[in-house]
Amino acid sequence: MAGAARRPLVAGNWKMNGLSSSQTELARIIQGARELAGLVELMVCPPATLLARFAVAARGTEVRIGAQDCHAEPAGAFTGDLSAEMLKDAGAVAVIVGHSERRTYHRETDADVRAKALAAWRAGLCAIVCVGESRAEREDGRAVAVVGTQIDGSVPDSATVENLVIAYEPVWAIGTGLTPTPGDVAEMHGHIRQRVVSRFGEQGQGIRILYGGSVKPSNAKELMSVADVDGALVGGASLKADEFLAIASVYR
Ligand code: PEP
Repeated sequence: MAGAARRPLVAGNWKMNGLSSSQTELARIIQGARELAGLVELMVCPPATLLARFAVAARGTEVRIGAQDCHAEPAGAFTGDLSAEMLKDAGAVAVIVGHSERRTYHRETDADVRAKALAAWRAGLCAIVCVGESRAEREDGRAVAVVGTQIDGSVPDSATVENLVIAYEPVWAIGTGLTPTPGDVAEMHGHIRQRVVSRFGEQGQGIRILYGGSVKPSNAKELMSVADVDGALVGGASLKADEFLAIASVYR
């Protein structure tokens, strides 16, 4: 598959934000997404409490709904957790796994993330696997090596264009307003591309690699223009429909 065939994806990670009243924001996103039909795929990943409602509201529209995390097991005595099968049942088409906030606050390892990605596949969901270096790792010149190790450990075998999206999110750029230079993004995405191509062959050419970390309307064009950046995973700026749509509009 040629690189040009990759369809951009802009996914919003709402994190622990959103109440019933947020349905109006989703409605605005759905409305704005009509003008971007066929140009960019839009996904909203709300908290689990809103997943089913959002999935119903988004049915038949240009907007897809994703989840933010899953348990590796399909069912069982895991109080408070949700399985990938439950997320699929609620209407999700994808699930974010290995977000740096999960890796940090819940001490998730690459092996945990890999198990969650496998669970996503078992349930028929696309796994959006997040990777990214800390500030200290970048300053030590270890960013590429760290991300390479995360990909090797977090991404299971048999990844395909349909079942995997990788999100490169430097930890120091998340929610800080800081972003890497386009050159640094190009270097990292180039390495990630090489790694997935060497591991998954032709499929690796089509697997989408998103950039995430302080993407906003003012920097989206520059970041999304970098080679091998196939879209964005957006946190804070995805909570407001106009900002989220302005980011996605760089693909207009
Ligand atoms: C994120 O948490 O995935 C993220 C990219 O956050 P922000 O856009 O707020 O930096």
